[in-house]
Amino acid sequence: APAQNAPYLDDLNDAQRDAVLTTEGPVLMLAGAGTGKTKALTTRIAHLLASGRANPWEILAVTFTNKAAREMRDRVASLVGSERAEGLRWMGTFHSVAAQILRRHAEVVGLKPSFTIIDTDDQIRLCKQVIEAAGLDEKRWTGRGMAAVIDGWKNAGQRPSDLAHHEADVFGDGKAIALYREYQDRLITLNAADFGDLLVHNLTIFRSNPDIQAEYHRRFRYMLVDEYQDTNVAQYLWLRLLAKTSDDTPPNICVVGDDDQSIYGWRGAEVENILRFEKDFPGAKVIRLEQNYRSTQPILNAAGAIISNNKGRLGKDLWTEQEGGELIKLRGVWDGEEEARQVAEDIESEQMKGRSLSDMAVLVRASFQMRAFEERFNTNGIPYQVVGGPRFYEREETRDALAYLRLVRNPADDLSFSRVINKPRRGFGDKTLAQLNVLARKNGISMAAAGQLMLETNELKGKAKGAMATFLLSLERWAREAETMKPAELAEMVLEEAGYTDYWKNSKNVQAPTKLENLKELVNAASEFDTLAGYLDHVSLVAERSTESEDGQVWLMTLHAAKGLEFPVVFLPGWEEEIFPSRRSIDENGQVGLEEERRLAYVGITRARESCRISFASNRQVYGRWQNSLPSRFIDELPEEEVDVLSEPGLYGVSAREMPAQSRFADLVLDDSASTYQTPGWKRARQYGRQQTNEPIEGTARLIASSAPGDETFCKGERVAHKKFGEGTVLRAEGTKLEVEFDDVGVKKVISSFLTAA
Ligand code: ATP
Ligand code: MG
Repeated sequence: APAQNAPYLDDLNDAQRDAVLTTEGPVLMLAGAGTGKTKALTTRIAHLLASGRANPWEILAVTFTNKAAREMRDRVASLVGSERAEGLRWMGTFHSVAAQILRRHAEVVGLKPSFTIIDTDDQIRLCKQVIEAAGLDEKRWTGRGMAAVIDGWKNAGQRPSDLAHHEADVFGDGKAIALYREYQDRLITLNAADFGDLLVHNLTIFRSNPDIQAEYHRRFRYMLVDEYQDTNVAQYLWLRLLAKTSDDTPPNICVVGDDDQSIYGWRGAEVENILRFEKDFPGAKVIRLEQNYRSTQPILNAAGAIISNNKGRLGKDLWTEQEGGELIKLRGVWDGEEEARQVAEDIESEQMKGRSLSDMAVLVRASFQMRAFEERFNTNGIPYQVVGGPRFYEREETRDALAYLRLVRNPADDLSFSRVINKPRRGFGDKTLAQLNVLARKNGISMAAAGQLMLETNELKGKAKGAMATFLLSLERWAREAETMKPAELAEMVLEEAGYTDYWKNSKNVQAPTKLENLKELVNAASEFDTLAGYLDHVSLVAERSTESEDGQVWLMTLHAAKGLEFPVVFLPGWEEEIFPSRRSIDENGQVGLEEERRLAYVGITRARESCRISFASNRQVYGRWQNSLPSRFIDELPEEEVDVLSEPGLYGVSAREMPAQSRFADLVLDDSASTYQTPGWKRARQYGRQQTNEPIEGTARLIASSAPGDETFCKGERVAHKKFGEGTVLRAEGTKLEVEFDDVGVKKVISSFLTAA
């Protein structure tokens, strides 16, 4: 048997090796970014397999994002071979593992094993229906709002029956629990579950059936969780139930995480989960790692400086053996388009130097920021891949096609039924559809069943009658075919026979050819699966474009999606107040939201291995409106000595009010070549720029033309005055950057344009 000197142990440091070899009992690995937590975790899995301690199916290994899960599998495969790694069927995201368990015990919660997993869109539609049916004011109660409240409860592991009335009083009129209950009842009638349900139903199953719980407890001899700092209450309870033994023997559970990277508080994650692990599992072995293997020192220093502004951290120092490294590059630009253009240029120049496109990633705070990059990449012909962005599976045609397939699998899925029954038009009027709906509701049956009933009772007339009969017969036939046919063939057949493919072929919509392409791609994606169920689960849970030609494509994703990943070159655009930190986090009282944003900044910077490039724009279009913006406060938290300000000819409008007087990065140039920009913001900025005022102007842009001729320059020894810091003596002058010893506040670095001669 492989001993303690197996080759995979050679790549680890002592602490990591300890984490791998301590296979029995609870283990907590708490360490900063890039210290090799995931590496230790995956090696641990390899070790469990290679040493014969566990079979692949006896290991439960969970993480948060699909990409992270895939990477976990790849890393294990590289250590023990892909055959063994494929047997790890309980490795994946929390949701995908919970869905597998729920399929096996669906009846316990009143579902059939063929249940549909609905996405946010359908969730909101369903909430709207519930609100409508309850006759509530749809302005006060929006579908989206209700869905968010329900999600919150589910994240906390609470079913309607778990809620006390005062807790559920979110809308102030005591109806919330009833609505929640109604929503759940609807889901059961539809034979469907939303994302939150996957875990909450698991909790119900384990709690109401101790034998099922015991079965899984026995099965999962080893449990591993990556990114533990982001578990919410439901996930935490789920793990606890799986780890619990009747005789309290300590479970073999290994969790790894970093309190500084907890970024899902807004989704109910509780960083306390990681902090109380030792209490939950007495005798846990705690392993800390400090050596970072990912990034250069400037990157680590920058990330460390930002995160040090958060309070209540455990506090960790990171060091690396690597020497030197590129400074953080910081660039201010005129607007979002310009920012995208600059990033694209940087990418192209890196590519010229021989860097692969897939070594570069653009990480945005909010998905609306992606559009400018996508457009620019398309213009420049730079192949790119969006992770978790506007998704392939969220497009109209893919949703329609999937609705057909879901309906084939689950005829009770009314959400899908109403989506496709008249697409293409089959001659049902709104009246017929409303009738169908009422009948279904009244009898507690599905719309498909209601259609059958209407045929039997002769309530349908003329064209609608024939169309309904044909449609229902087709559904039945497709369901029979689905038992033997491969999902790709089935998808092609269903779309063809339903007339859906022709619907787009005959369409005059300019997008029709693209939509047909997308349908082809959907069929393609299905060809990787053996069963329709397998394919549909993949779509619901993995829901990313499945083409995995990852080489030769720049990555584009949100900071949240980038957790746990690493790239040689990372672009971090949009570092502006109200974008990053987000407006919501600023508006909220207290520091909670802001600290989470700061952790997100820490996550972003620490994704970079060699090069980290931060940018901000003075003007940005947000949901169609132009706004001026201030550089992010996180920029001011960067240590100056680790930052290289790119002061190419360019224009830096800095908008008004609270612009920090000592801002180190405002010494930028007003360049006439920029006058080609024609936006309302530009004119205003330019006008004031010409005034060369140093006084902030309320509500307008302010420009500082520091290196323009005639600007005041100061020499060493000269006495100067600063509006905020008072009088002082210049110690050092480097162009417009000065170090001044102020009489009252000591040595500060300031920009000459903020000074006058004293
Ligand atoms: P994060 O907090 O961002 O998830 P992490 O702690 O999980 O980071 P890993 O992704 O496991 O860190 O490792 C970061 C990088 O360091 C990877 O490229 C990994 O291969 C490398 N690495 C980890 N441990 C070692 C080691 N002992 N020797 C050499 N390289 C290592
Ligand atoms: Mg990791």
